Amino acid sequence: MARANAAYYGGRDPLGRAGDFITAPEISQMFGELIGLWAADLILRASAATTAYVELGPGRGTLAADALRAMAKAGLEPEAHFVETSPALRDKQRTAVPGAQWHDDVATLPADRPLVIVANEFFDALPIRQYERSGIGWRERMVADGAFLLGEADCSDKIPLPLSDAPFGAIVERNPAAEAITATLAPKIAAQGGALLVLDYGYEGPATGDTLQAMSSHRYADPLEAPGTRDLTTHVDFAMLAAVAREYGLKPTPCAPQGAFLTALGIDARASALVKANPNEADAIETARHRLVAPEAMGRLFKVLCLRHPHWPMPAGFA
Ligand code: SAH
Repeated sequence: MARANAAYYGGRDPLGRAGDFITAPEISQMFGELIGLWAADLILRASAATTAYVELGPGRGTLAADALRAMAKAGLEPEAHFVETSPALRDKQRTAVPGAQWHDDVATLPADRPLVIVANEFFDALPIRQYERSGIGWRERMVADGAFLLGEADCSDKIPLPLSDAPFGAIVERNPAAEAITATLAPKIAAQGGALLVLDYGYEGPATGDTLQAMSSHRYADPLEAPGTRDLTTHVDFAMLAAVAREYGLKPTPCAPQGAFLTALGIDARASALVKANPNEADAIETARHRLVAPEAMGRLFKVLCLRHPHWPMPAGFA
């Protein structure tokens, strides 16, 4: 999965109507603007004017550009730092946010200032491991010759305790890359101040289930077919991210549905203002707002979690 996604993202811009999938910032400028105001509000209430704005996997840079524009209106012009491995997407990001600084890895992010870090649809693209409860115990689900098969080693130590007695055939997913990135960022935030905002599709584990999926031209596809030419993703376990952050002393918010989060941040007021300024686009603006917040669209499956320095204030948008 790691190699397939590196090849996939490395050589193309997969976003948008002509690509394979579309993300919230590409649906409407309202998404990035509200995240920017969310960040500005948090930084101002924390009295942390030197805070840097960081994004993990910024795609085309649309979210960052919209967020930074909104932050500038609130009087903040933070340094922008992007963690991005894809050369093709770095090119797009350079056009969208010319002054940014790029990193291959979270380890090289600034060490001398607070960080407000935004990750939209980033953790879902990281490589996972799957374990299946077979008749002889927990085994890793692996890929060989284009098919799934079970490994031979006992993997019961990888299974969260509440799931160890799951029914035969049950699948448990672990995301070591997501755990490692959170375990690198959490002590940085604990030492420097700041927060990590994660927005993605996912669940609050521990839970069983195979969530590996492939998207090609906006349709679900076979994840094992044509590796490197399709977007491979899984659902994010938000409870796991919160648990890792807690180990380093960070405070997690409750996990909010994206619809409730954006509504609390004022998406209805922003949509009305945009309609007033662009009456001819009223239908498109309302369609975009609906897509971002409606429970049957992105409002419920997508969730939002913030992991913050223990002395930073409660961020906006969470009940
Ligand atoms: N956040 C953007 C793009 C989401 S797609 C949006 O909402 O539109 C996933 C992004 O993560 C892409 O920019 C991809 O190149 C990047 N990415 C995937 N795996 C990565 C990794 N291991 N390290 C850094 N970036 C990665």
